[in-house]
Amino acid sequence: MANKQKTVLVTGGCGFLGSHLCESHLKNGYRVIAVDNFCTSNRSNENYLRDAGGENIIIVEADVTESWSSWAESLPTEWLESLTHVFHFASPASPPLYQELAIETMWVNTIGLSNALNWADKLKARCIFASTSEIYGDPEVHPQPESYWGNVNTIGIRSCYDEAKRFGESLLFTHNWKKKTKHGLVRIFNTYGPRMNPHDGRVVINFLVQAIQGKDLTIFGDGSQTRSFCYVNDLVDGIRKYSTSDITTPINLGNPTEFTILELAEIVQSMHSEKSLKMTFHECPKDDPKLRRPDISQAKEKLSWEPKVDLKIGLQRMADWLSKTTLD
Ligand code: NAD
Ligand code: UDP
Repeated sequence: MANKQKTVLVTGGCGFLGSHLCESHLKNGYRVIAVDNFCTSNRSNENYLRDAGGENIIIVEADVTESWSSWAESLPTEWLESLTHVFHFASPASPPLYQELAIETMWVNTIGLSNALNWADKLKARCIFASTSEIYGDPEVHPQPESYWGNVNTIGIRSCYDEAKRFGESLLFTHNWKKKTKHGLVRIFNTYGPRMNPHDGRVVINFLVQAIQGKDLTIFGDGSQTRSFCYVNDLVDGIRKYSTSDITTPINLGNPTEFTILELAEIVQSMHSEKSLKMTFHECPKDDPKLRRPDISQAKEKLSWEPKVDLKIGLQRMADWLSKTTLD
């Protein structure tokens, strides 16, 4: 009898979102190929996936901007023949890390994506690209619907990420147009949860690590800028719904409840009231978006998806995980 087990390939599979996406597929009976060069991830995610996946996971250490032939051609034939999706999630994602790895970030969202699209075509799989709310830049429309074209500085310190993701979206659109394929992309808004790299510098992990260590919470600017935070399990549900649809146009995935950074800091303070954590104020990084909130009407209508996890509950789950994690 033919083996019906399906396989997915996840680039950036040992990163924060990638590892949750791999885990969700493993739990649903898939085989998973996770490809990562560990430039920004927590190495412990690899051990976690090996333990969780057993014989259903293959982890390949490779840079996806280079040729895939050297490793892809030696994967088991039955895994390649049953491949349904190539999720292209490899990319530095936090502002400090994508600015440190600025050129690598530009290549992984362009050349890396081109490799993912071409291998997906070759293996008759659907490619799903992890795009971002950053394509809207410092938005002049609020909340941001998919129809908004954005406000991005092409030569600023965030452009290596923003413009690479925007080029990635154009590449995927043009690939579909000219090659008559049906690949897709999701625009992910700020997502948090267990398995983020504790040193990656994004605001939620920074505040939770600072709180555990009893340090001051570092507010950039006056803290009036807003973000809308989505718990990782909600996001992964949305990605899976999108990936199993035949939608090829961008869809926003994120939590539409908006907080100022000061409000986020106050919630973290209240979770650790015994420590009387202080806030310190620092210069705001250049081009930092002042407002961000997804309009998720399309996700609701086309995917019947909306996030369920309240910020305080998600933060507590993340803090519980962090309390069992080595921070050095
Ligand atoms: P992460 O840094 O935890 O994961 C990214 C992974 O990609 C890491 O494991 C890293 O080692 C790997 N990687 C980077 N360059 C690579 C390369 N050239 N070859 C192979 N592997 C490479 O970040 P994340 O938050 O999990 O983000 C995953 C994806 O989602 C990224 O594409 C990011 O742009 C996108 N995204 C994330 C968020 C979020 O809030 N987490 C928001 C918008 C978009
Ligand atoms: N931020 C902050 N303190 C920190 C880290 C970030 O005040 O220690 C602010 C940052 O300036 C931005 C917001 O929090 O306004 C979200 O930053 P993050 O790096 O998480 O993601 P972004 O949405 O900017 O990509």
